[in-house]
Amino acid sequence: MTGPGELRTTLPAMDREARLAALRQLMAEDQLSAMWVTKPVNVRWISGFTGSNGQLLLSEDSAILFSDGRYRNQAAQEIDQAELSDQIEISIQPVGPEDGLAELKHSLWPLTRVGIESGHLSVDRLEKITTALPRSAIVNKPGIIDQMRQIKDAGERARLEAAANIADRALAQQLSDLVAGMSERDFAAQLDHKMLSLGSEGLSFDTIVASGSNSAKPHHQPTDRTFSDGDLVIIDFGAKIDGYGSDMTRTYVVGGHPTAEQADLYDAVESAQAAGVDAVRADVPLVDIDTTCRDVLTDRGYGDAFVHGTGHSLGLEIHEQPMLSSRSVGILRAGLMVTVEPGAYLPGFGGVRVEDSVLVTDEGCEPITHAPKGLMP
Ligand code: ZN
Ligand code: ZN
Repeated sequence: MTGPGELRTTLPAMDREARLAALRQLMAEDQLSAMWVTKPVNVRWISGFTGSNGQLLLSEDSAILFSDGRYRNQAAQEIDQAELSDQIEISIQPVGPEDGLAELKHSLWPLTRVGIESGHLSVDRLEKITTALPRSAIVNKPGIIDQMRQIKDAGERARLEAAANIADRALAQQLSDLVAGMSERDFAAQLDHKMLSLGSEGLSFDTIVASGSNSAKPHHQPTDRTFSDGDLVIIDFGAKIDGYGSDMTRTYVVGGHPTAEQADLYDAVESAQAAGVDAVRADVPLVDIDTTCRDVLTDRGYGDAFVHGTGHSLGLEIHEQPMLSSRSVGILRAGLMVTVEPGAYLPGFGGVRVEDSVLVTDEGCEPITHAPKGLMP
């Protein structure tokens, strides 16, 4: 096992040239002369730039990353690391990126038909763009890059696997503290610290530790409540590598002696989760995974206690499309990374959720989260 420092150097490089080429292909099909990329994770996915202020303008054969003075060095470094320094020019704008557009309209830049990420652009920013480019047609392209990001390439899969591996190891180290007297907040803080020590660059999302009656709330935030013997405890968390966050949930009982009711609830949820994972395969309708899990819980008498969707895709964002819910339309495709996370929540009693993240393949799926399951840690 590699140490935190070596981890990133052993991961396969990401093929950003392929992403640029694929986006340009879509632009050509839409007769877009340029595309204005504003959603930060999409700027990152294409260019490697991770700063909070970066907007990317692409044409068939040119690209400019607009940022501000704070990011002058970082932008150059990250574009270089992405091996795109001969393809993406950097333009530092003192006021806002749209000022760069105003300058470009006097150049040879093809700005006749400019696509925008209309799902992620404020009204103010749109106004600045239309003011800077009064003669351009602005074309709404909601989700164009988000859709491209759905199928994970080898570099992305390796990062999600590395993040999930850190989360597995951090949990294994932390479980000795699943004891009476430990607070939800301290348990979460210590688990987070272990992930960071093992090389995680941050958290996928705020760690959920929900004990006793709190476990009946699917998105409970850790409090000062201390564990007691016999409490159900839901732990939902993830580590992050190069922006890719993992996602896993386990449920345990403190002290290791579940009641018959707790054991029955747990067994129903774990069976539902296993059935859902078994059903994951390329070409299967998304909704089928939700139905599979829901049917098991309904048969076991917990149908009404399953109050959320079955899963979501994940990558640079923790919740990506497509979702796995009763309203999902479409099919699973090989290369998607999705969670399967049914749960059952009984107010006043407690709840159980079990979640794995899996890579969809033509034959089925490959889980990337491997922490052992079972109520007894
Ligand atoms: Zn989760
Ligand atoms: Zn999840």
